[in-house]
This record gives sequence, structure tokens and C-alpha cells, in this order.
Amino acid sequence: MSDKQIDIIIIGAGIAGLSAGCYAQMNGYRTQIFEMHNLPGGLCTAWNRKGYVFDGCIHYLFGSGKNQPFYQMWEELGAVQGRQFIDHDEFMRIVAPDGKTLIVYTDPDRLERHMLSLSPRDSKLIKEFCAGIWDFTDFDMSLLLQKPKALMGLGDWLHLGTKMLPFLGLLNKWGNISASEFAKRFHDPFLRYAVAQMFAWESIPMMVGMSLLAYMYNKNAGFPVGASLEFAKAIEKRYLELGGKIYYSSQVERIIVKNNQAYGVRLYNNQEYYAHRVISACDGRGTIFDMLGGQFLNHKIKKLYDGHLPLHSQLQVSLGLNRDLSKEPHWVTYILNKPIIIAGEKRYEIGVKHYCFDHSLAPAGKSVMIIMLSTPYDYWQRIYGRPLYDAEQIQESQILIDQLEQFYPGIKADIEFMDVATPLSYERYTGNWQGASCGWLLGKETMSMMIAGMEKTLPGLDNFYMIGQWVEPGGSVPIVAMSGRNIIQQICYEDEKKFIVLELL
Ligand SMILES: Cc1cc2nc3c(=O)[nH]c(=O)nc-3n(C[C@H](O)[C@H](O)[C@H](O)COP(=O)(O)OP(=O)(O)OC[C@H]3O[C@@H](n4cnc5c(N)ncnc54)[C@H](O)[C@@H]3O)c2cc1C
Repeated sequence: MSDKQIDIIIIGAGIAGLSAGCYAQMNGYRTQIFEMHNLPGGLCTAWNRKGYVFDGCIHYLFGSGKNQPFYQMWEELGAVQGRQFIDHDEFMRIVAPDGKTLIVYTDPDRLERHMLSLSPRDSKLIKEFCAGIWDFTDFDMSLLLQKPKALMGLGDWLHLGTKMLPFLGLLNKWGNISASEFAKRFHDPFLRYAVAQMFAWESIPMMVGMSLLAYMYNKNAGFPVGASLEFAKAIEKRYLELGGKIYYSSQVERIIVKNNQAYGVRLYNNQEYYAHRVISACDGRGTIFDMLGGQFLNHKIKKLYDGHLPLHSQLQVSLGLNRDLSKEPHWVTYILNKPIIIAGEKRYEIGVKHYCFDHSLAPAGKSVMIIMLSTPYDYWQRIYGRPLYDAEQIQESQILIDQLEQFYPGIKADIEFMDVATPLSYERYTGNWQGASCGWLLGKETMSMMIAGMEKTLPGLDNFYMIGQWVEPGGSVPIVAMSGRNIIQQICYEDEKKFIVLELL
């Protein structure tokens, strides 16, 4: 063993890696984080350009409400103290070409009244849906993650079972149906279309969308003022204050293995660092197949990465506008009267969001606006490295801006800055396979993986763990932070130590 050896090396200073680092330091482990970028946060990020701050992540943060699910963890990580959150009365609007609008209010009663006014003949379905949202306001999803599944004894399962029992019917009813399937139950043609779009993601299990509205109603799913990078930096600060060390611009090429035990990491610059344990808090595929050379696999893992599971890759056009949009609804999905072709696919709607609710993100009287679309990774990958790639980004953004002009006349002339992020940008910036925004996208198969919990180790490899969005289907900032917390609970258990949390004074 080398004298350079420390207790735990963590690969990745995204939210999962930072969280694991904080809890490890609290429990007396000496840790180092290696991050390929020069900033913390990973996908939880934002970028400053010409006086504008473009957020690339958090639309809603579970745990933003004091004493509500996930809040305590954020307090432990120093992420919420002194931070202001914006809570919206409406999640988004879906606007048809004829102006007909579904406003997705976060208050279930208000949403019910509004939907009934749009379609009285769908009254039974609307009431059932809104009553379901009310039920989810009492649902504490953090309970599912409060202890690593591997450590749960009979007593823990009984406790969890008792807490979950009242919700089993609800989860069964709304966990197995997607927004697009649910929309088909409506008689009203507009709602049949708009309900599928109401969470900006058609295949979302209704249970997830309804919990989101319920948490928004509870004021426990706010937007952090200052944007996502500032939020991540608060956890970085906590980690450094706890004595941790981050090596930035330090990309790990290989995980060093000796006698089937993880022993350290080798960076691209050939430097080696050693530790008793290694935690990978970054892309799952890169970890297993590149950094470990595909040596620690079984049939289940090979299947996981064979490309059959859903991922979400996104195109984001960010605009700095010399126009005040604060009187406009902040998030609108426009249904187009004629489809447009973006990245080789016909698109029938576009999502547009402005951030005037947070005055810190644009100069006074100006606005940040983003256009978001899910987009096929393969398309962008095929053209990457060719002149077509840059030309295509410009062309696709022009098509989107032409559409925008129809909804906000004159807006083209107000554009002061434009920036385009394709799935390749996300992949380059964070290393995530296909630029995936949340690891495995939640759908029917991945929901059951989420509930059962995924393995955090690899077969035949000791002293090695995986955390973050590739082992917590659906990802999300609070869930990956929990993932970091849980792995340290597990390590403490292996070392027969009591897991402790240090309060932030
Ligand atoms: C557009 C968008 C919107 C989102 N909206 C929300 C939302 O509203 N609410 C919410 O809760 N979640 C949201 N998410 C999801 C959430 O951001 C992610 O699930 C979560 O941040 C993933 O964290 P992670 O730590 O697991 O992984 P990552 O953030 O990917 O972190 C991994 C880190 O590892 C580093 N790394 C990778 N490879 C190496 C290497 N070889 N060596 C060293 N370092 C390496 C990367 O640079 C990165 O910093 C959104 C994501 C996106 C992209």
C-alpha cells in the first residue's frame, strides 16, 4: 500500500459525488473527488453569458420546503440555508393553435375547476385525477430511499410497509399508466392532446407527474434563486469545509484494480491516486465498460446497457433577450398548427420557458428564455465532427426562433445572445451516455427497477461502489444526493461504524 493512499476516492463532483463526499467526511473518512470539468455540479449546472445566466437543470427541487420530504438532507448538505426558492402557482400551460389553453395549476382544486370548464363531460375523470393529486400531497417518497435496501432488516421492511400501505392502491392505480395513455381516456379532443403534454414528457408515469404537482402545491418543489450551479456550489462549499479535496480538470481514465479489488484511479495525464475504496459517481456505461474495461459484468448488467431502456436526450436553445417577459406565463408548450422538422423528426409542439421569476438571472428589463425539445442522440452523433454539425445547430435554432416569432411577435430582433446545447454538448460536458439528462428515463420497466432498487456494486469487484443517476432510475437532484448518503451508510455498516450526520452550525 502506498503512503499516498487515502480512504475513499470519488469519481465525479456532480450532486451524487459531492453528497457522498460530505457524508464520508462527516463519518471520519478521508476522501478525494476527481472531476473532469473545472466546476462542481455535473448536470446540475448553469452558465453565464453576456450578463445572462442560463440554467441547464432544476425546474423543481424536491425538498425545498422546510420540514418536508428531502429537506433535512439538503440542510445536512448546507444547500438550503439562506437560499430562497420560487414556488409557482402554475406548472405550465399548453396552448393550442386556436388559443385554447390548459393551465396546469398546482392547486388541485383550482386545476379541477379549470379542467371542468374546458370539458364538463370529462368530469368523472377530472375529479378522479385531481383527487389523486390531493392524495399524493401526503406521500413521502423519501421514505423509499432513507436506508440502503441492502441494509434493510425485517423491522425496516415492516416499518416501510406500514408507511406505504395507505398508498398502495394509489401507486398501483397511477404508477402503471403514462400521461399519453391517460390522455386517451378524455372525450374532449383538446384535453386528449394537452393532457399528454402536461408534464412536458408524454411517457411519464402519471404517479410521477401527480407527485410533482402535489409537491409543488406543498411548496416542496421550488426553483432555487440564483440557479442550479449556485445550488451545487453550496454543496461543494460544505464538502470543502468538512475537509474534502477536489481535483478539478482531472478526468479518470482507468480504475486501478489489484486482486479483484478497486485500489485507485489513473487519470488521463497518467497520474495515479490510491485509496481503500473507490466510488464512481459518474456515467454508468463509461465506468463499467471503459474505466473498468468491461471486466466485471454479468448477464443482467450487459442487458441493462444493450440500448433497450429509455433515455432522455435534449436540445436546449438558450436566448438572452432585450425584452421583459415577466408578464408572460413562465412555461408554455405550444401545439403547432403545422409540424416542423427538427433533427430529422417531425415535431408537433415546442416547450418555451422564461426565467423572469428570478431577477438575478438577467439584467433589469431583459429576460432569459429557453426552448427545450427531446431529440434523438443518434442524429447529432452521426453529424458530429462534420461541418454539418455547426450548420445544423444554427439551422434548427432558426426554425425554432421562426416559430417563436409567431408567439412573441418581434422577438427575433430582441435576441442579444443565443446558445445551443445538443445531446453531444451534455455528453462532452458531463460524460453521460447519450447526454442522458437523468440516467434511465422513468417508464414502466424502469419504475419497477427504481422501486426494487439497483445494485450499487459490480460482480467480482471488491471495494468498489456506484452511485448517482445510473443506479437510481429517473435520477433527479434529491434522489442522487440520497444515493451518496446511502452509500456512506453502507460503508459505515461494513466497517461496523455508526453512521453519523454532523449538523451545520
Ligand atoms: C435539462 C435537465 C433538466 C433537469 N431537471 C431536473 C429537475 O428539475 N429536478 C431534478 O431534481 N433533477 C433534474 N434533472 C436531473 C438531474 O440534474 C440529474 O439526475 C442529476 O444531477 C445527476 O447527478 P449525478 O451526480 O448522478 O450525475 P452527473 O451530474 O452526471 O455528475 C457526474 C459528474 O462526473 C463527472 N465525470 C464524468 N466522467 C468523469 C471522469 N472520467 N473523470 C472525472 N469526472 C468525471 C462529470 O463531469 C460530472 O460532473 C435535470 C437534468 C437535465 C439535464
